[in-house]
Amino acid sequence: MADEVADVVIIGAGAAGAAVAWSLAETRMRIVCLEQGGWMDPSEYPTNHQNWEMLGLGPFGFSPNTRARPADYPVNDDDSPIKISNFNAVGGSTILYAAHFPRLHPSDFRVKALDGVADDWPLDYATLEPFYDQNAEMMGVAGLSGDPAYPPKEPTLPPVPLGRLGDTLARGFERLGWHVWPSDSAIATAEHAGRAPCINLGPCVTGCAQGAKGSTDVTYWPAAVRAGVEVRTHCRVREITVGGDGLADGVVYFDAEGNEQRQRAEMVIVACNGVGTPRLLLNSASARFPDGLANRSGRVGRNLMFHPYALVTGWFPERLEGYKGPTGCSLISQEFYETDPSRGFVRGYSFEMLRGDGPVRTAIQGAAGRVPWGSAHHDAFAERFDRNAGMVIICEDLPEEHNTVTLDPELVDGHGIPAPRIHYRLGENSRRMLEHAVARGKEVLHAAGAIETEALSPLPPAGWHLMGTARMGTDPERSVVDAHGRSHDVKNLFIVDGSIFVTSGGVNPTNTIQALALYVADHIKRNLGNLFD
Ligand SMILES: Cc1cc2nc3c(=O)[nH]c(=O)nc-3n(C[C@H](O)[C@H](O)[C@H](O)COP(=O)(O)OP(=O)(O)OC[C@H]3O[C@@H](n4cnc5c(N)ncnc54)[C@H](O)[C@@H]3O)c2cc1C
Ligand code: SF4
Repeated sequence: MADEVADVVIIGAGAAGAAVAWSLAETRMRIVCLEQGGWMDPSEYPTNHQNWEMLGLGPFGFSPNTRARPADYPVNDDDSPIKISNFNAVGGSTILYAAHFPRLHPSDFRVKALDGVADDWPLDYATLEPFYDQNAEMMGVAGLSGDPAYPPKEPTLPPVPLGRLGDTLARGFERLGWHVWPSDSAIATAEHAGRAPCINLGPCVTGCAQGAKGSTDVTYWPAAVRAGVEVRTHCRVREITVGGDGLADGVVYFDAEGNEQRQRAEMVIVACNGVGTPRLLLNSASARFPDGLANRSGRVGRNLMFHPYALVTGWFPERLEGYKGPTGCSLISQEFYETDPSRGFVRGYSFEMLRGDGPVRTAIQGAAGRVPWGSAHHDAFAERFDRNAGMVIICEDLPEEHNTVTLDPELVDGHGIPAPRIHYRLGENSRRMLEHAVARGKEVLHAAGAIETEALSPLPPAGWHLMGTARMGTDPERSVVDAHGRSHDVKNLFIVDGSIFVTSGGVNPTNTIQALALYVADHIKRNLGNLFD
C-alpha cells in the first residue's frame, strides 16, 4: 500500500485534518492521512473512573511534556510564560478541547484597516460564512440565534442549559447592562448525526465518554473513513520531501513498529497545528530549502500567537451546582471585543463562563491557603465546595515576529526527531488588555453576588490556541501560504491549521480553523484540473 502514490497525503488527524479529508473525500481521490496517535477508546476517558480528577492531571493532562504518551512529542516551552497544551490522536486536540465554538467577527479580518495594527487577512468573513455553516452541521453546534455581537447565524442544536451557575452569572452581566449570550458550543444537546446527546457528565476537557462533544473522531472522521479516506495511525512524519521539479513528492515517516517508511503523493496537506506544522516544515529542510520547507519568506515559525488568558474566579455564599454540565460552555460576553481607544489598547477580548471545580481541585486549592490541610480542612472544604464560579478571558494576541517556534538543538522525540522550542513574550497591548479584563471580570462577578474574587493572569497552561506560524497573505515575501492555503514556494503543498491565521481574534479558533480547512478543500476541488499550472 505504502509504495503506491497517493493522490493526497494529509499529515495530522485533528480538527483541520479531519475537515479537509472529509471535504476532499467526495472527489474519490486516494487520500491517506498519517497520524502519530491512535484512535481513542472512550471507555478509557477519566469520567468513567472514580479517580477522574487525578487522571485528568496525569495521562489526560494538557501538557505533552508531563503527559508523555508514546504519541506525544516534547515541546521546550521553558522560554514562555504560556505553556503548550495539546493532544495527539485521531481527533487531535479536540479530544481535550472544551468545545467552545465561536466564530471570528467580521472586524477580525481587517485589523490593519480598522486599527492600523498587524495585517488584514486575504479573505473576509463573508467568504468563510458558508464554510462556518457547513462546519456547524458537521460538528453539531448548540447555540441560540440572535446574538447581537454577530451577523445572523443559525445554530444546529438547542443551547447548552445554563443551570443554576449560568443563571447566577448571567444576572451579573444583566445588572451591568453588558452583552452576554449563550455560547456556541460543539456539543450535541440533542441526538445529532448518530451522536448521543450530552448528559452533563462533565468535565469535557478530559474527553467525552458519551460522544456528545464534537471531537473530530466522532464527527468528521467516521464520515471521511466511510467515504474512503485511509487513516494510518501511530505514524509520525519526519519530513516532507521535494522532487527535482520543486514539488512535494511525499513524506518519510515512522510506522507503528518504528520502521522508517515512505509515502509518495501528488499533493501534501499539513494539519499538525500551530506548533507541529512549523516544526515539520523546519525539519524538512533540504538543499533547495535550506531554511525549512516553504520558508523562503523566513516566516515559518514566526508570529506565534496564543490567546493570553486570565482566569477570574468568584466565591459565592450559595451552592451553584457548578459540577453539572459541560466544562466551559454556557455563556459568552463580548462587551469589550471591539477596539475602544479610550481603554489604552487595540482590539479586545471575550469572557467565557466556566463551571465550578470538582472536589479534588477544591481541596488542592488548599495549597493557596483557602482550604488548609490539617484539622480545619474538612470544615473549610465544606464551606468552599461548589461555591465557586468564574470565567476565562480570551485576549486577542497581536502577531509579533520575535514570538517563535524553532527547532530545539538538543531535545528530540521518541523517534529522534528534533522537538520544537517556543520563545514567547507577552506584548504590551496584551498586558494592558489583561489588566482591563481582570478588573471587569471581578466587577461582573461581584455584580452576580460573589463575596470574594481572585484572578490568575496570564494563565500559564493556556497555550492551547496555536496560531500564526505559517501565515496567509498575498505577499510571498511576508507570508508562507496564499489566500487559499497553498505554499507560495511549493505549488502542491497546502497548510490548513491555525498556523495560517493572520491575526488571532479574541475567540477560540477551532471553528475558524475548520472553516478555513473546508474553504481550502473547496478551492482544491474547484481547481483540480489546473491546480499546479
Ligand atoms: C485543553 C484544551 C482545551 C481547548 N478548548 C478549546 C475550545 O473550547 N474551543 C476551541 O476552539 N479550541 C479549543 N482548544 C484548541 C483546539 O483543540 C485546537 O484549536 C484544534 O484542535 C486545532 O486543530 P488542528 O487540526 O490545527 O490541530 P490538532 O487538533 O492539535 O491536530 C494536530 C494533529 O496532528 C498530529 N501530528 C502533529 N505532528 C505530526 C507528525 N509529524 N506526524 C503525524 N501526525 C502529527 C497530532 O498528533 C494531532 O493529532 C483547546 C485545546 C486544549 C488542549
Ligand atoms: S458534559 Fe456533555 S459534552 Fe461534556 S463530557 Fe459530559 S456528556 Fe460530554
